Amino acid sequence: MVLFERDRRELATVTRGAAELVPLSQLVMGMGITVSPDPRTGSVTLGYQGRSVILYDKKSLAQVGGELRLLSSNVLQEEGRWLVPVDSAPRLLGPLLRKRADWRAARRVLIVGEVAVPQIAVTTSVAGDAVRVTLSASEKLPFRVQQEQGRVTVAVPRDLVDVAHQPERLTGGIVDHVQFVGGKDNAFSIGLGRRFKTLQTFELEGPPRLVLEFQAAPLDTAEAGASPSPPPVAHAEGTGIRTVVIDPGHGGAEVGALGPSGTLEKDVTLAIARKVRQNVVNSLGLQAFLTRDRDLEVALEDRPAVANNYKADLFVSIHANAFRSEGARGSEVYFLSYQATDDESRRLAAMEGGEIAPAAVAPAGSELALILWDMAQAEHLEESSALASRIQEELAEVTGSQGRGVKQAPFRVLVGAAMPAVLVEVAFISNAAEEKLLVSDDYQSKVAAAITRGIARYQGEREQRTGAARVDSRPKS
Ligand SMILES: [Zn+2]
Repeated sequence: MVLFERDRRELATVTRGAAELVPLSQLVMGMGITVSPDPRTGSVTLGYQGRSVILYDKKSLAQVGGELRLLSSNVLQEEGRWLVPVDSAPRLLGPLLRKRADWRAARRVLIVGEVAVPQIAVTTSVAGDAVRVTLSASEKLPFRVQQEQGRVTVAVPRDLVDVAHQPERLTGGIVDHVQFVGGKDNAFSIGLGRRFKTLQTFELEGPPRLVLEFQAAPLDTAEAGASPSPPPVAHAEGTGIRTVVIDPGHGGAEVGALGPSGTLEKDVTLAIARKVRQNVVNSLGLQAFLTRDRDLEVALEDRPAVANNYKADLFVSIHANAFRSEGARGSEVYFLSYQATDDESRRLAAMEGGEIAPAAVAPAGSELALILWDMAQAEHLEESSALASRIQEELAEVTGSQGRGVKQAPFRVLVGAAMPAVLVEVAFISNAAEEKLLVSDDYQSKVAAAITRGIARYQGEREQRTGAARVDSRPKS
């Protein structure tokens, strides 16, 4: 195959002995190169913009400009056509066209000119009962995932990709190895281990990437502790709530707020989020996923994107509050707005990884404001507000946060969520007493249970509302 600028052609090669040759006329087609055979000297001259390359019958030599260059095998003249070694084509075309020319033997592709070859980088990470394999691409690529007996294949049906990856063996028994096997479809092969149970895949933007999450078991049973889990309740048809994505705030180098004794917000949010996930699965019988299941930095925009990819019905981001007045305590639950309820809320949104860029907050009624309200979260605000209220009411019982209630602020993490979405500030990590509570397993469990009750109450009310709507819409007899 030859890739020439925006053009793509198949090359029909022939073999003579050990050499693979391509007819010259086919090779230079569409490149604007003149081909002038000279039977007297047994040579052929290629011309382009005053430059020339001369090839000789039965010689592995080319005269390029004034210099002789070696070719990998003899040039042959057969029945009026000239054959040249395909792997040496770049040595002729490069200097003649003054363009980059490259023969990719493995993929059997000849590249001439500025052809952008997409790059794929592979990273793997292991976190407890999950292995995450990420294929990050330099541009949007078609990824085809196929699960077969004992392995998962990811094909990238493009002419050419450059892959930065060393074959890798993994321990833990969920995924055994990840390797690039190439072939026509640029395939990756991921060998499944004996502990493998489920695979979730989703695609994210900036950079475009495919994420494959291999789970050892649908539930982290180790976290169930001594208390036996209640049996899963089949979710009621019609509530429309099947999947909840829980977002443990911060992670990795982005540690979040810091308690007076050194507790990091990112650790507290992960611990609570894991418990919420378990409760939502066990008590509510819903699917639940985390945006991160370990100490990992996840971009703000990617968090709702994960929820969108899972087609989640609810998105709950979990945080711990900081600063403000010394005695500040208790929980708060937020939903999105472009105007903060008060200065404190605006400051908090800025602290939680940034509020919506000031430039993006346009005066109401302006065109820009309309564009903003076009965003995913806009049409779910009413439901988000209801969800926030139920969670806050349940949390207040546990954290004693009288009077704090539900607030609104321009949290960037909520903007892209295409479902009811709230941000929970569980308690004040900056308050020494609450910091102590936040690290205790008992308190974390109470908070997680309260959040789950809030979700359950919201689900029940929504069910009633949709049920009532159905009754109302019936024609009266
Ligand atoms: Zn936070």
